Amino acid sequence: MKKMALHWKIMIGMVLGLLFGFGMSSVAWGEDFVMDWIAPFGNIFIKLLKLIAVPLIVASLIKGVSDLKDISKFKSIGLRTMGIYLFTTTVAVILGLVLVNVIQPGEGISEETITQLTSKYQNDSGVVAKLEEASRQKVAGPLKFVEDMVPDNAIAAIGNNRMMLQVIFFTIFMAISMLLIGEKSAKPLKKFFDSLNDVVLKMVDLIMLVAPYAVFALLATVVVSSSNPEILLALVKYAGVVLLGLALLIVFYCILVSVFAKKNPFWFLKQLSPAQLLAFSTSSSAATLPVTMERVEEHIGVDKEVSSFVLPVGATVNMDGTSLYQGIAAVFIAQALSFDLPLVEQLTIVFTAILASIGTAAVPGAGMVMLVIVLESVGFPADKYAVGLALIFAVDRPLDMFRTVINVTGDAAVATIVAKSVGKLHDKPKAKNWDDNYDEVK
Ligand code: ASP
Repeated sequence: MKKMALHWKIMIGMVLGLLFGFGMSSVAWGEDFVMDWIAPFGNIFIKLLKLIAVPLIVASLIKGVSDLKDISKFKSIGLRTMGIYLFTTTVAVILGLVLVNVIQPGEGISEETITQLTSKYQNDSGVVAKLEEASRQKVAGPLKFVEDMVPDNAIAAIGNNRMMLQVIFFTIFMAISMLLIGEKSAKPLKKFFDSLNDVVLKMVDLIMLVAPYAVFALLATVVVSSSNPEILLALVKYAGVVLLGLALLIVFYCILVSVFAKKNPFWFLKQLSPAQLLAFSTSSSAATLPVTMERVEEHIGVDKEVSSFVLPVGATVNMDGTSLYQGIAAVFIAQALSFDLPLVEQLTIVFTAILASIGTAAVPGAGMVMLVIVLESVGFPADKYAVGLALIFAVDRPLDMFRTVINVTGDAAVATIVAKSVGKLHDKPKAKNWDDNYDEVK
């Protein structure tokens, strides 16, 4: 019998998780039951993915760069990647701004809804935490993120999942130095990292065996802890604009992939789908990264020389879904609260949203933290930040799930295009299975 494809299994897990979550929300003890007995399995899954992220980045970047044999190739991959990332993010923000100005979701929103949302969420611990986090980010100077990219302690950088760019910096530095000491001297280290890379990719295969069950737990948890549906209805127009923008971004990537990488976009989306479904279920590009790397290399055919750099960097700095959302959310808040935001001023949003996307951590809800910085850039009054965030807080989690899918898809699309442009997109990639060598050890 033909085995069911992984993405179907994951989708079944998601649907059952949603249904189970709705069922549990309707009984008094349901939320506690899910939080105590179901949620931990979702959390364990996310922990496992994060657990292997740093070893995977280190091993695959070292393998990728040291396979290059030529530093100038690395420079051209780096420049192309940055250029395309900047381009797609700019398109995303502009698209968001066009949609929100044409559809104007904030105009019709009633005073009553605003008061209701504000009183419910203004002092909510989630909103307060986001504002505090944003004020920590704000004091930073413009070059702070470049400075932050350079670690002063390699072990500390590797020991902190939030320091992905520092890990990437250290690893590239080391890999380039390995190239410079010559093949013979670098051989033992290279062999070690090649083998580590195979091991970590096998760990991804093993973790993915439980993905269908984990997404069940993750979605059931999201449903029981989400806001009541009536409030969601009040924000349906705003959410609709964000979802429309995100859907158009998928079309945009499909066009890019078919024009520049000469690949069928449906095939591309199908190969990537398990990573997209995980992005949706976890709301974290960082947690999804190991699976994105596995799918892009073993199923889409992008050579490690490209993917090992483009994807980890993309997970941290390229967030098109988030930038689009920030543009829409900022203008929506201004419309709803009758804050005058002329079109010229909205151009500032293009710049800040691009910078914000670089600075946004690849974890759930981080996009909303950086939204405060976007609001600040257009002169939105500081005492109204909490009101602004309160307006959109109720739908943030579901929108976060969708924008994370776009963030991951954007990274994969760019990796595919860059690979094609440097002749590193292979036609018939060979996917590995978790049990390829199982017979030898069982
Ligand atoms: N959750 C998103 C991500 O990890 C970031 C955000 O938009 O909040 O890509």
